[in-house]
Amino acid sequence: MERMIYLDNAATTPTAPEVIEAMLPYYEERFGNPSAVYEFGNKSKNAIEEARNYIAESVGAKPQEIYFTAGGSESDNWAIKATAESLGHRGNHVITTKIEHHAVLKTCDYLEHNGYEVTYLDVDQNGMVRPEMVKRAIRPTTILVSVMTANNEIGTIEPIARIGALTSRFGICFHTDAVQAYGQIPLNVNALRVDMLSASAHKFNGPKGVGFLYIREGKNIPPFVHGGDQERKNRAGTENVPGIVGMGVAARLAHETMAEREEREIRLRDYLIYSVLKEVPLARLNGDWKKRLPGNADFCFDFVDGGSLLVMLDMDGICASAGSACTSGQSEPSHVLKAIGVEEERARGALRLTLGANTTREDIDYVVEKIKKNVSELREKSTAYQEYNDTHRVQKGRGKAWK
Ligand SMILES: *Cc1c(COP(=O)(O)O)cnc(C)c1O
Repeated sequence: MERMIYLDNAATTPTAPEVIEAMLPYYEERFGNPSAVYEFGNKSKNAIEEARNYIAESVGAKPQEIYFTAGGSESDNWAIKATAESLGHRGNHVITTKIEHHAVLKTCDYLEHNGYEVTYLDVDQNGMVRPEMVKRAIRPTTILVSVMTANNEIGTIEPIARIGALTSRFGICFHTDAVQAYGQIPLNVNALRVDMLSASAHKFNGPKGVGFLYIREGKNIPPFVHGGDQERKNRAGTENVPGIVGMGVAARLAHETMAEREEREIRLRDYLIYSVLKEVPLARLNGDWKKRLPGNADFCFDFVDGGSLLVMLDMDGICASAGSACTSGQSEPSHVLKAIGVEEERARGALRLTLGANTTREDIDYVVEKIKKNVSELREKSTAYQEYNDTHRVQKGRGKAWK
């Protein structure tokens, strides 16, 4: 392929060269087991602790509050299942939202099958969770609230600090899935008043299969993997030393470049959004324009099948997504779009473009041109569009952004 434009950074990001370079010695000469007593093993142990110290600092936590896991899904599973299990004697009610990642939703579903009650909160048309709704959902039996920091499909950034103020007042454990937010926007566990926070390295230019869970000191959350004494006996198993080292370096890079990246990505993202809404008729933006992840642009195109659009964009060398990781053309429309009130027909024409540090203005121009061309080709073949066109006499290529 002569040209590839990667705009699926919410699915995963390229591993930074500095990260790979830092990881390699731990596959090669520094392969020692961190639990060993000899100095050679200590080298690995020290590297892990260095990563832990940096990651703790990056969210305003203490090193002993950071637990390494095998990624975002594991962190979410641990946070939710272990809290439910340990607080089961106090109550059986969990509050979450309708727009969470499946790692949270399916874990809650599992809890429901095991005697817990789960409230799935509605969100507004921009995907915003209203703190008053959280407050109203709280019962005497509520033991956990889990609300994501930012949504992976529509990019909406949630009012976590306001929800945290509530949960801490009610003494309820508060977990946030910050997998999309960590490394993209500043996060501080004390300002946000969260008790648990999940993150995943491959979403911020680190390696796949490694992440962390922050657990506030004093919250006696039971172990997730039983066995050895690793991670303060909470997550057994010989540590993924290269992965953890790589995540530490990725975390440092992400925070050192955050302000600059954020400004640049917001500029490019807004240029992308304006261009698409201007150039492509019957297009609309999903999610909140202002309270939005820097690199996220999520659209719906009427009279377009999102799956077909993705295939055409792929042929033009563009990697994009329909929103969630499911790619089959027959897949259910996104639960997130449904929750923000997008009708099923329209939700089928979803396209998510997520920018990265390497995205350029030229990339955006090329992508907008290809979206315009492919959307128009797909509509040519759509009888529903022809009918709509006949009734509304929309001149080709001159439609307006729909609200
Ligand atoms: C990617 C993602 C996850 C899952 O993380 P993995 O490391 O791939 O398991 C969970 N939550 C959100 C919001 C995500 O974007």
